[in-house]
Amino acid sequence: MFYQCGDGRRNPLLARTMTVPVFRFAPSSNGALHLGHAYSALLNASLAGAAGGRFLLRIEDIDTTRCTPELENQIYHDLAWLGLQWETPVRRQSQHMDDYTQALERLIEAEIVYPSFMSRQDVRGYIAESEARGHAWPRDPDGAPLFPPVDRDRPPSDRRRRMEEGEPFAWRLDMNAATAHVAGPISWEESGDGPDGETGRITARPEIWGDVIIARKEMPTSYHLSVVVDDALQGITHVVRGRDLFHATAVHRLLQELLGLPVPHYHHHTLILDEDGRKLSKSRGDTGIAALRAAGATPADIARIVGIAPAVR
Ligand code: GLU
Repeated sequence: MFYQCGDGRRNPLLARTMTVPVFRFAPSSNGALHLGHAYSALLNASLAGAAGGRFLLRIEDIDTTRCTPELENQIYHDLAWLGLQWETPVRRQSQHMDDYTQALERLIEAEIVYPSFMSRQDVRGYIAESEARGHAWPRDPDGAPLFPPVDRDRPPSDRRRRMEEGEPFAWRLDMNAATAHVAGPISWEESGDGPDGETGRITARPEIWGDVIIARKEMPTSYHLSVVVDDALQGITHVVRGRDLFHATAVHRLLQELLGLPVPHYHHHTLILDEDGRKLSKSRGDTGIAALRAAGATPADIARIVGIAPAVR
């Protein structure tokens, strides 16, 4: 059986699935949901429904400074208003730090992460100095400068001293060591597409991200680590999310290999853009679900605006 994805394409990949497919919508509770989230949530639920699969909701709330219970409640309210139903209990990342700690410990034992002490200001200064000497500093797919090798190259005695003195540090992946640890090239099956139309079997090139953060200074995890641990623990078979996370999938695939986790299928969907062609932001209230509801929009209006055909709902 074939069925349409929200962005209008036939998806033979999903049709081949033998086990019960498990989809998830995983918003961060650091802002109100907007049309882009509505699209992602409705698409996940409609694909799960069409495939006879399960639809889970996960609250990504590791950032306790920006994620609040009020915003989380608003997410539940908006999704229910849209007509979505999900399994309970909902997995809330802030309640599962032990799971991330265990995964982090394995990476520490394998010596593929290192403690990084540099502050944002140190990093900016280091890069500015290097650029002033005429070296263009490499950037990641999001345009951020790659992390300098200073902490990676620190002598073990210096690392130990700083740790013993209680200097705050994050854990970063030693990208060279990590990619060397994995036998052969890694890839994933993509049934949506990337920013340049990449689809099908995609070769992962995690090295374009440099030494990514695995655990932030104040917690035993980061977005990348939690997302792969949770997808595995929740048995997610199909990751359907925005195209802005297409390149991050290379890091997720690498972590899955390093931690021996199963590999889901990926479908990166188009993003809903504003009238100026920019990605919607959580701070722009006018495309927020709550604001649209207050302005008189119905759930059917939202589904129509984001282009989810009733036939696949
Ligand atoms: N929590 C992420 C976000 O809101 C999505 C993570 C994912 O789908 O992998 O952008």
